Amino acid sequence: MQIPEGWLLPQETNLDHADRPDYLRIHSIETFGTHDGPGIRMVVFAQGCQFRCLYCANPDTWDIYGGTFKSIEEIVQLAIHEKPYFGKQGGVTISGGEPTLQRNKLLTLFKRLHEEGINTALDSNGRLLNHEVEALFEETDYLLLDIKHINDDWHHKLTGVSNNSVLKVAEYRESTGKPMWLRYVLVPGWSDQEEYLHELGRHFQHYKTIEKIEIQPYHLLGVQKWEALKMEYLLKDVPSPSREIINKTEAIFKQYFKEVKVN
Ligand code: SF4
Repeated sequence: MQIPEGWLLPQETNLDHADRPDYLRIHSIETFGTHDGPGIRMVVFAQGCQFRCLYCANPDTWDIYGGTFKSIEEIVQLAIHEKPYFGKQGGVTISGGEPTLQRNKLLTLFKRLHEEGINTALDSNGRLLNHEVEALFEETDYLLLDIKHINDDWHHKLTGVSNNSVLKVAEYRESTGKPMWLRYVLVPGWSDQEEYLHELGRHFQHYKTIEKIEIQPYHLLGVQKWEALKMEYLLKDVPSPSREIINKTEAIFKQYFKEVKVN
């Protein structure tokens, strides 16, 4: 089973200059989100992604020419409108797709949100770390970093690319002292191997900025999107993890992380 050739984008792909200035290329916006960062949040799903995860539930976010345009100021105004519901913890999360494809525009957006007293979170696959991404992380109150697999071969099999940059992003975030949550998609036979769950735990156990790790049990809800896009869904015979697998993973992670949450 292998990611088809030609699916992957160059690591440094940058949509900032390719599209309309002051507009983000987005897939969708969700209000009252409770699964993407602290509190109640407005979640903006950015268009475009450099990973090609076999289990991706939103393959319609991959196309860097897809989605629709929304101006940065319009998103700020929407967030201001939602602000009364955010409470003390909530705010705006940019997810995707992969937001860092539009890193400079997001930096502008996050600065504007901070001017309005709105908390910012970024859900990233960690594919890229450069000065532009570092500047964006500076304005990111919570980094939600997806760890697809701690083993590089398995990471390749699952996403089409190495986990090297992901681990560097985690290391960089740790060096800044700013908060981070890890997210782990649990796929039976692919990312539930006990030795690698322990390896992941050992790798991160001394990180001080990791507030929690979230286990995201794999599901098949995205299959219809793959079919609609006329792409073959290669994990169609893989079931969602059983309660036993989820419990085992949770118990292992609890040995290394102060908080483990099953989403
Ligand atoms: S990183 Fe997220 S959006 Fe990109 S392919 Fe993987 S699951 Fe899909």
